[in-house]
Amino acid sequence: MALILCGILIFPGCSPSSENQSTTAQPIANMERPAYAIAIHGGAGIITRDRMTPEKETAYRSALDTALTIGENLLKEGAPALDAIEATIVYLENNPLFNAGKGAVFTHDGTNEMDASIMNGKTQEAGAVGGVTIIKNPIKAARAVMESSNHVMLVGKGAEAFAQSQNLETVDPSYFKNEFRWDALQKALEKEQQTGYHEVLKEEYKFGTVGCVALDKDGNLAAGTSTGGMTNKKWNRIGDSPIIGAGTYADNATCAVSATGHGEFFIRYVVAREIGARMEYLGESLEDAANAIVMKKLVEKGGEGGIIAVDKNGNIAMPHNSPGMYRGFAVPGERAVKIFGDE
Ligand code: ASP
Repeated sequence: MALILCGILIFPGCSPSSENQSTTAQPIANMERPAYAIAIHGGAGIITRDRMTPEKETAYRSALDTALTIGENLLKEGAPALDAIEATIVYLENNPLFNAGKGAVFTHDGTNEMDASIMNGKTQEAGAVGGVTIIKNPIKAARAVMESSNHVMLVGKGAEAFAQSQNLETVDPSYFKNEFRWDALQKALEKEQQTGYHEVLKEEYKFGTVGCVALDKDGNLAAGTSTGGMTNKKWNRIGDSPIIGAGTYADNATCAVSATGHGEFFIRYVVAREIGARMEYLGESLEDAANAIVMKKLVEKGGEGGIIAVDKNGNIAMPHNSPGMYRGFAVPGERAVKIFGDE
């Protein structure tokens, strides 16, 4: 029997705890695969009620809800998981609330450098772009790399030339500039004088990376992630978001994962693939595998952030070891958008 506690769908054997900010929906335990399942995130971090105005909270909830609806409607119509996640991420990239596309954070030099990746769980094909500055929707470029090149990852000017060769929309870099992110950079630059580059990157990086994972009616999984990276990043730093296995992974045999958080840790601990690997080699459930990595391994190592994941049976996990994570999920008959750790 399922119980609804504090807005979290709880099934026997899974109890809520404010310490363990793991949100898991298991709507179909021991039952047939649902017609579809989708989960999204809009970044993790120090997202707490005392730092949030009612207006901001409403704006985020509404944007997450719209994003979820875009993906869910496509899946309901029978679209492939890849199409659903791409369309959902395009919406989030175009929304300045999130640190991806239009709302990307600034580098130390006052530019915007974006990273994105996508993976097809059926074929294990993947595509990624890193450090791009003029591609309006980096997730589309990642998909084009996957489908129209023989490569997995392209970066910088080459990635941009490739995107242009695929007729993807490019924009003047000024399209990505917005005041809120600019102010965040100024604050980070000031703090850097006092605490140093690495400390400020850890403390001040702005959250809002976006991601989506989905299971479609044919049982195919897909995952995608898109980001502006970390505020004040230098030296063409690239995080986990475009790294297949770290920030994004999908395999029909296990699960699809998209990550958000302090990217260096997610690369070192190969977070997205590690969750699938635990399911594959240890026979763990999605919930156990995701918690072992996000709530234990990353916590021990000091890596802040979270993930969203859906497994081949439509189970969804959204654990995060940071105080909050913009997130949501939908399966037939059940849907939720959440922000804070206690939801
Ligand atoms: N993971 C991203 C990065 O390190 C940032 C984030 O998710 O907030 O570039």
